Amino acid sequence: MKYQKIKGTCDVLPPESASWQHLESIVHEMMRRYNYQEIRVPIFETTELFTRGIGEGTDIVNKEMYSFHDMGGRSLTLRPEATASVVRSYIEESVGKRSPICKWYYIGPMFRQEKPQKGRYRQFQQFGAEALGSNDPAIDAEMIALSAGILEQVGIKDFVIWINSVGNPESRARHREELLRFVKPIVDKFPAVDREKIDRNPLRLFDSKLDVTIDLMQDAPLLEKFLDIDSQNDFERVQQALNNLDINYKIDPRLVRGLDYYTKTAFEIKSSALGAQDALSGGGRYDLLVEELGGSPTPAIGFASGMERIILMMEQGEGSLFRETPLDLYIVAREENEREEATRLASRFRQKQISVDLDYLSRSQKAQMKEAARQKACFALILFSDDLKLKKYQLKDLSTSEQQSLSFDQIVRRIKPE
Ligand code: AMP
Repeated sequence: MKYQKIKGTCDVLPPESASWQHLESIVHEMMRRYNYQEIRVPIFETTELFTRGIGEGTDIVNKEMYSFHDMGGRSLTLRPEATASVVRSYIEESVGKRSPICKWYYIGPMFRQEKPQKGRYRQFQQFGAEALGSNDPAIDAEMIALSAGILEQVGIKDFVIWINSVGNPESRARHREELLRFVKPIVDKFPAVDREKIDRNPLRLFDSKLDVTIDLMQDAPLLEKFLDIDSQNDFERVQQALNNLDINYKIDPRLVRGLDYYTKTAFEIKSSALGAQDALSGGGRYDLLVEELGGSPTPAIGFASGMERIILMMEQGEGSLFRETPLDLYIVAREENEREEATRLASRFRQKQISVDLDYLSRSQKAQMKEAARQKACFALILFSDDLKLKKYQLKDLSTSEQQSLSFDQIVRRIKPE
C-alpha cells in the first residue's frame, strides 16, 4: 500500500457516515431547542492564542499541539479545541457590545498529538456550546442539561454526570499551599510524569490516571474545604437547578480544571462502557478567560463532547445506529432511447424529492435488477420502449414484487404518499 492514513486519524465510510449524520442532526436540533446558534471558526489560529487560551503547563500546550510555521514565518497551530477560537471571535467581532448574552455552538475536527488508542485519536470531532455574558448558576445547569440531553436524544443511557466547583483563583491559591504542604514530603514517591506537575500545577495531580498517584492522593486536602463563599453559594444553586430539572448527578470533589481562568462549576460526563477513555463530555465556567484573551471581563461557561466516543457507544448498542439510507427508486433501462428517458425521469423524480439511481455500467436488465436489490431500493422502475410512447412505466415494489404500469404522477404519489 503506497499511502496510508496518518496514525490516530480515521476514515468514516458509509454506512457508518449515516450514524455520524444522525448524530450531527441531533446536535443541530438540540442546540436549536436551547437557542444556541452555530459559529464556525477556522481550523488553525496563531499558536499564541492556544498557549494563552488553553494555558502553558497543560498537556495540550506542552506536548500535543500540531504547530507549524507558514511562509511568513508565523507560528500557527491546528486547533486542539474550539473555546479559545470562539472567545477570540467573540472579542474580535465585539459581540458583547451587541448582545448581552451570546449562546453559540460548534461542530468540527480538533487535533491533538496524543498517543492513539481506542476512543483517543489525533484528529477527532467535537461538538460543544459556549454561553458568554451570564454568571447565573441556572445557565450552568442548562449547559449540563443540554450536554446530557444530547446523549439521551441519541439513545445513550449508560453515563454519569460528575460535577464540582473549582472556586475562584484565591480559593485555589489557598488550597494550593495546603496541597503542596501535603505533597512535598512524599514528592519522591510520585511517578516522574506526575512529579513534573507539582511545581507547575499541583491540582492536576487529582487528574492523574496512574494508580500510584491515585493512591498517594487518597488523603490529599480537597479544594471544597477552601471554597470562597460566592463559589459555595453558586455551587448550591447549580445543584438546586439540576434537582429542579430532575437531572441525576454526582459530586466528585477531585474533578479539577487547573488553570486560573477556570472558575466555579466544572463537570464531566463519563461512561464505564468506554473503558480507559471514559469521558464523553467535559465543561465548566471560565469567567476569567475573555479578559485573559484581551476582552472585557465576561463570565462564561461551555462544554465539549467527543463524537467518536458517542459513535463508539452507539456501535456498542447504546442508541440507534442509522446504517441504511434507503434508496427510493432504481431505474432499469437497456436500449439507448430507454437510457435517455431514464436520465430525464431521474431528474424529474429528484425534483420531487425522490432519491433515484440508475445504471452507468451498461449492464443487462437482470444485472440491473440485482443492483437495485443490492442497493436495497424500495422500488425499481423498468423502462420498455413500447411503454415510453404511452408515458407509462413499470413500477415494481421490491418488498412485495408487485408490479404496476403507472404514469409519472402516479409513481410520485406511490413512492411519496402525501
Ligand atoms: P476536552 O476538550 O479535553 O475537555 O475534551 C472534551 C471531550 O472531547 C472529552 O470528554 C472526549 O469525549 C473528547 N476528546 C478529548 N480528546 C480526545 C481525543 N484525543 N480523541 C477523541 N476524543 C477526545
